[in-house]
Amino acid sequence: MTEATTAMELYIVTGASRGLGRAIVEQLLARERVLLTISRRPDRALDAAAAAKGAKLEQWAFDLAHDVGAAARLEAWLHAQPRERFATVTLINNAGLLGKVGPIDISDAETLAAVLRVGLEAPLVLTSAFLRATRAWTAQRRVLNVSSGAGRRPIAGWAAYCAAKAGMDHFSRVTALDEQRLPNPARIVSLAPGVIDTDMQGELRASDPSGFPDIEQFRQFKATGQLAAPEAAAARVLAYLARADFGSNPVADVRDA
Ligand code: NAP
Repeated sequence: MTEATTAMELYIVTGASRGLGRAIVEQLLARERVLLTISRRPDRALDAAAAAKGAKLEQWAFDLAHDVGAAARLEAWLHAQPRERFATVTLINNAGLLGKVGPIDISDAETLAAVLRVGLEAPLVLTSAFLRATRAWTAQRRVLNVSSGAGRRPIAGWAAYCAAKAGMDHFSRVTALDEQRLPNPARIVSLAPGVIDTDMQGELRASDPSGFPDIEQFRQFKATGQLAAPEAAAARVLAYLARADFGSNPVADVRDA
């Protein structure tokens, strides 16, 4: 089959340079896929991996805490794609950051704003651009927001992060309702991926215990091998994305699947 007649899949993944996002991109690399990543520091090793697999990979360097220009560029980029070639088009809003762990009065305004911009504003603005740009596509349209159990239960010391994830869950619920009324509705899920052995967990364990009463529980996750490897977590997230009923529950958890 030539490339022109093969059903292609398009993925956009934020926060693809490390951790869960990087593992997701690595597992998606395949000849029939076109991938776009958005992170502050694109990982050039992924370019080589993509070339080896015959995947088309483009990586953009954007700081989602400071630059909403990524959304306009994404919209223009999607408009330039040969949309009739794609069977599916998927946005994975994975980038996230914790900020300073502890009560909000120990954080400066810039740190708090960065957590909300990366974890909530950027996913919402990128989703808006994605939905608008793909509105007339016949491909199956999906948005996977990488959320957290922290958006559903309060954890002392994580106010901005919890607020960003709770906001992500709720805008996903509302967008699911809005899409249901439109032709070829996008399916959207805000998915908690479980606890994963990434830099973010390392930051948690290294934070000041005086502002984080549950720190010992997180140290135990690591000590007792309860953190999933990024590769295993990515496989679970991608299995959830592949489910026929993806989108039927806009707020979900891989651990309930
Ligand atoms: P991580 O290892 O800290 O990686 C975070 C990713 O986000 C990196 O690729 C980073 O890329 C990107 N990022 C951070 N700040 C950014 C910014 N200002 N602009 C653009 N990209 C930025 O985190 P992770 O553990 O893989 O987390 C991935 C997602 O899973 C996050 O949404 C997180 O909230 C969620 N999650 C993680 C866990 C866990 O246990 N690890 C549990 C529940 C949910 P650059 O540094 O190159 O910008």
